[in-house]
Amino acid sequence: MQFEQALTHLQSYFGYDSFRKGQEESIRYVLEGHNTACIMPTGGGKSLCYQIPSLLLEGTTLVISPLISLMKDQVDTLNAAGIPATYINSSLTHTEVQQRLEEVALGEYKLLYVAPERLESPQFLEQLQMLPIPLVAVDEAHCISQWGHDFRPSYLRINELISKLSNAPIVMGLTATATPQVREDICRALHINEEYTVMTGFERENLSFAVVKGQDRISYIEQYIRKNNQEAGIIYAATRKDVEELHARLQKSGVNVSKYHAGMNGNSRDEEQNRFLQDDVQVMVATSAFGMGIDKSNIRFVLHYQLPKNMESYYQEAGRAGRDGLPSECIVLYSPQDIRVQRFLIEQSTSNPKKQIQDLEKLQSMVNYCHTEGCLQAYILHYFGESEAHECGRCSNCTDDRVEIDVTVDTQKVLSCMIRMGERFGKMMIAQVLTGSRNKKVVDFGFDKLKTYGVMSDRSAKEVSDFIEYLISEQFILVGQGSFPTLSVAAKGKGVLLGTEKVMRKEQMEVKQIVQDDELF
Ligand code: ADP
Repeated sequence: MQFEQALTHLQSYFGYDSFRKGQEESIRYVLEGHNTACIMPTGGGKSLCYQIPSLLLEGTTLVISPLISLMKDQVDTLNAAGIPATYINSSLTHTEVQQRLEEVALGEYKLLYVAPERLESPQFLEQLQMLPIPLVAVDEAHCISQWGHDFRPSYLRINELISKLSNAPIVMGLTATATPQVREDICRALHINEEYTVMTGFERENLSFAVVKGQDRISYIEQYIRKNNQEAGIIYAATRKDVEELHARLQKSGVNVSKYHAGMNGNSRDEEQNRFLQDDVQVMVATSAFGMGIDKSNIRFVLHYQLPKNMESYYQEAGRAGRDGLPSECIVLYSPQDIRVQRFLIEQSTSNPKKQIQDLEKLQSMVNYCHTEGCLQAYILHYFGESEAHECGRCSNCTDDRVEIDVTVDTQKVLSCMIRMGERFGKMMIAQVLTGSRNKKVVDFGFDKLKTYGVMSDRSAKEVSDFIEYLISEQFILVGQGSFPTLSVAAKGKGVLLGTEKVMRKEQMEVKQIVQDDELF
């Protein structure tokens, strides 16, 4: 029946032998007439999940996509494969738009791509109403979620459109963002029953994840690029200023490098992007403005110059590496100062207190990723709700062969000191009390009289503070999300104090470097 035809189309139009797992399920649901959510990582093959049904359904499938710069390429590729498709966006004149709509009405296209902003025009909505649209595919559907990392107000118009169409279409939401909250928002907004959510394959077997700490980041990057000088890669930096500085620095040291951020004008952005896409330059230094929907398969590394703001954007950005399936590396260069920058950016970006707390919690999950000593791929998969993640054997933690030692007693020292201090302080103050600092604040609060004062004086404040980060990442300690991150003992930590829970940690290298107090929050 219809599904067998889907397989024939896969082979004849697209030249692939078989479906990937999630594709088959998604296509089946759509052909059975169910609204469907399709959640797969970048490069997972989401486009086919609506393109193939469009060939099997009467009428023109409407694809809503925010990626205007890509529409033409996508449409050209479909046309080259013998699938009639077209797009309507702001690059066309009014006459061209009208002409395309007339052609759509005559049934000349199987797919029509539009940008969400079009839906703001009542006239456009009216014109769509009359067309036979069997399927509405909402690409980058996380943009519908106000809690997602890329909310687009025009996406809220999608429902209005769907309710107005003359024949109730099947609706499909597609995204690479898999957090439960965004998933729920998509399902609620697009009336998708949860059982028709297809979510697969978040493991990327060709990617090796790593977190690098305590290194001079610029020298690390320069050396890394020198070692991989035949390979293309992206370096993400947190701010435009960072992009400019790193770009200038790499250019000076002879790297063939492009840059991209929202402060550049449209033309130079396109120019720089194209140079990278066409392999004219080796490395792209960019803010997170770069990359949504870019299709460059041979990216061998994605480095994050600083801590990314959350796991969603991290996995999306890192996932741009290795789309061709060849081994590729994704590395976060982490330093605790980054937390302050990201907290500042969050505080600037929203005045909604609920959203701020949520963003800070997400940031904390990202920080925990940098401190966990478990498998990084498994951490990511757990975060996105895949419960049965196994150890990847490739990441910087899986390949770390230092022995594990029992640190239960040290953990007890930290936790009981926190309790004695009233669980009202941040990491640095706790580390100072434990290491016996004579800091004025420590003395003023009378913490030099505590039983736990100086019980870790054989370590540096930096070592103790790193250890506290580790205990946070392993959920023995909770971080408050107020304007100042105070620490408290988590339920799992209480188990350690009661002696029912053991704590193990990889043996630490001796830390020689002396770090200024103000580098730690
Ligand atoms: P996404 O939209 O999920 O980021 P795409 O739809 O762009 O991913 O697909 C990524 C790549 O995988 C494309 O090059 C596509 O042609 C390829 N692809 C998709 N489905 C299959 C399949 N069943 N077999 C082989 N390659 C596929």
